[in-house]
Amino acid sequence: MLEHTAEAKKFYKSRAWQKCRATYIQSVFGLCERCSEPGKIVHHKKYINAQNVNDPYITLNHDNLELLCQDCHNKEHFEKYSPLREGFKFDDKGNLVEV
Ligand SMILES: [Zn+2]
Ligand SMILES: [Zn+2]
Repeated sequence: MLEHTAEAKKFYKSRAWQKCRATYIQSVFGLCERCSEPGKIVHHKKYINAQNVNDPYITLNHDNLELLCQDCHNKEHFEKYSPLREGFKFDDKGNLVEV
């Protein structure tokens, strides 16, 4: 259920995502959509997983994206999965890394 599997990591490095992400950030003026602080992480509302990581309708669809600041992104994930309890945390780029 983790958003950042090996497959997902490849995706996050892809040119298509970099471009999609950049245009999305511009479209929301670079602000967190929940609290209006400067946004940092483009979050997928429908989380990326091993099944959908190659589906552009999920991964590259602006309708499935949300620009969040670090705090709001942490809240989003901690509330649903509590990744910290499973030995993961977010680094400053919003990547889930093993503690
Ligand atoms: Zn926020
Ligand atoms: Zn996220």
